[in-house]
Amino acid sequence: MQRLAIFDLDNTLVDRQGPLTDWVSEFSSQYALNDLDRADLLQLVHARVYPSAFEAIRAQYGLAPSAEALWRDYCVYMARSVTCPADVLEGLSTLRRTGWKVAIATNGTTEIQTAKVAMSGIVAHVDAVCASEAAGVRKPEVAMFEKAAATCGADIALGGWMIGDGVDTDIRGGRAAGLRTIWISGSRTWPGGEVAPDHVAPDVRQAIDLLLSTVS
Ligand SMILES: [Mg+2]
Repeated sequence: MQRLAIFDLDNTLVDRQGPLTDWVSEFSSQYALNDLDRADLLQLVHARVYPSAFEAIRAQYGLAPSAEALWRDYCVYMARSVTCPADVLEGLSTLRRTGWKVAIATNGTTEIQTAKVAMSGIVAHVDAVCASEAAGVRKPEVAMFEKAAATCGADIALGGWMIGDGVDTDIRGGRAAGLRTIWISGSRTWPGGEVAPDHVAPDVRQAIDLLLSTVS
């Protein structure tokens, strides 16, 4: 099997949840939203945010700035706020040093995902970044994993690993693409079903250690 590791970005290599909750707090106080609105907003941006979501947010709360301006502020805030732990960056470097091709496959707009990868320093430690908007496909579509592999010069037909926190997007999708998988569980238990991950790791650093020790 070729040494190919494809990583998810949000809540795998970087913590999205913390910065997102902070952004909702700051946005809510800036625009004087009440507690109920604040809870609604968190729900709205929880999974994924696209520029169009700010049209809805602007209309719902009667905000003066344009949706475009609100989106831009959101991108700047999130890109500035996400961080990748030093031991994870080091792990990515160790993988590459030991012959692994390392790619990121992430669902989201190219603008914000690219900014997060750059600002967190991850960009210097991976071979390729594949964002769904630019790719024209998204996880769990098999084509997304094929593109991520191809962008770092690997052939998905020769196998590899998908590492991520998403049950459907990363693990079931990765398996459908013929990859072995490591599920980043946090404190969750695997929900079951026909497909199970090859390994479960509480965080991505431990997943990297698994790759380094499992595939020699
Ligand atoms: Mg994720």
